[in-house]
Amino acid sequence: MSDANADTEFTIDVYYDDDADRSQIDDKTVAVLGYGSQGHAHAQNLADSGVDVVVGLREDSSSRDAAESDGLRVATPVEAAAQADIVSVLVPDTVQPSVFEDIKGELEPGNTLQFAHGFNIHYNQIQPPEDVDVTMIAPKSPGHLVRRNYENGEGTPGLLAVYQDATGTAKQEALAYAHAIGCTRAGVVETTFREETETDLFGEQAVLCGGIASLIKQGYETLVDAGYSKEMAYFECLNEMKLIVDLMYEGGLGAMWGSVSDTAEFGGLTRGDRIIDEHARANMEAVLEEVQSGEFAQEWITENQANRPKYWQLRAQEENHEIEEVGARLRGLFAWAEEDEETEDESED
Ligand code: NAD
Ligand code: MG
Ligand code: MG
Ligand code: MG
Ligand code: MG
Repeated sequence: MSDANADTEFTIDVYYDDDADRSQIDDKTVAVLGYGSQGHAHAQNLADSGVDVVVGLREDSSSRDAAESDGLRVATPVEAAAQADIVSVLVPDTVQPSVFEDIKGELEPGNTLQFAHGFNIHYNQIQPPEDVDVTMIAPKSPGHLVRRNYENGEGTPGLLAVYQDATGTAKQEALAYAHAIGCTRAGVVETTFREETETDLFGEQAVLCGGIASLIKQGYETLVDAGYSKEMAYFECLNEMKLIVDLMYEGGLGAMWGSVSDTAEFGGLTRGDRIIDEHARANMEAVLEEVQSGEFAQEWITENQANRPKYWQLRAQEENHEIEEVGARLRGLFAWAEEDEETEDESED
C-alpha cells in the first residue's frame, strides 16, 4: 500500500492508573471467553479487582476445572455473553470467528467486544454489529506474567485501541479494563487495530521469530559446513543469543556494544550490515507488503481451513533440524554443570 502511513498518525499517548475511571467497569459484568494464557490472567485479575467475571468455556473444555478451582464462575460462551456487558474474546485467534458466530446473538446495543489482538477485526474475519463498542487491551507479555505481575503489585505494559465507539465511552471503558488487569500500573500506549495487527505480524515474521531463527540456523550451518564442531556452532550461534539480547533489553544496542569487547564491536559494526544487507531489507519490505495487503492473513486462514498441511510439515522439519538435537544434548549437560556450580554463583561469558 503506497499510503501505508497516511492514516496511521504516529502518536504516543501513555496512560497510567490516574487516567482510568474505574466507575466505567466496576458495576459491569465481564465475560472472559477462553481460559488459556491471556484468559486466565484477565479473568483472575478482573475478579481480584472486584469486577464481576464469568468465564465462557465449552461444556467439554479441559479448562473448566482450572477456572472453577480458581474460584471463578463458569458458563458456556453463549451463556456468559448473555450475562455480560463486556465480552473479552481470549480464545485462540483461529477459533475466534466461529466463537463469535455462536455468541453474536447475545450482544446488546452498548455492549463491548474486547480483544487482545486485532487480527480478526482488522482482516474482517469478525464483523461486529454497529451498535457495540469494539476495543482492544493487549498486554505486551504472556499471560502468566500478566497474572504474576498483578499479584506482586506490579503492572504489565499494554496497548489500547478503539475500533468502534458506539457508546462514546469506549476508550474510557477500555482504560478501566486495563486498570483492572493491572496494565495502567505500568503504562498503556494507544494504537489502532491496524497498527497493532500489522506491526505484530511483521515483527514476529521478519525479526523476532522468523528472522532470528533463520539467522541462527544459517550461522550454525555455515560453521558446521566449514568443519567446526556442532557444539561450538551451537554455543556461538544460539546459546549466546540470550546474553546479547538481555543486554539490549536492559539498555538498547548501546548497552550491548558497550559490554562486548572492542574487537566484537568493530567486527560487528563492519560485518553486520553485510549479512543483513539490502537484499534482506527488500525481503522485509515484501513481507510487510503481504501483511498490509492481507495476503498473509488469507494464506493463514486458508491453511487453517485445510487443517494446516504446510504448518505441520514445516513444524516437523524445524524439529528435525540438527541444531535441535545438538542443543537438547548440550542443555542437558549445562543443567548438570549449573547444579555443581551453585555455590560459585558467577556465570561466565
Ligand atoms: P491460548 O491458546 O493460550 O488459550 C485459548 C483458550 O481458549 C484455551 O485454553 C481454551 O480455554 C479456549 N479454547 C480453545 N479452543 C477453543 C474452542 N474451539 N472454542 C472455545 N474455546 C476454546 O490463547 P492465548 O494465547 O491466550 O490467546 C488469546 C488472545 O490473546 C489471542 O487473540 C492472542 O493473539 C492474544 N494475545 C496472546 C498473548 C500471549 O502471550 N499468549 C499476548 C498478547 C495477546
Ligand atoms: Mg450481553
Ligand atoms: Mg503475534
Ligand atoms: Mg564470543
Ligand atoms: Mg566495548
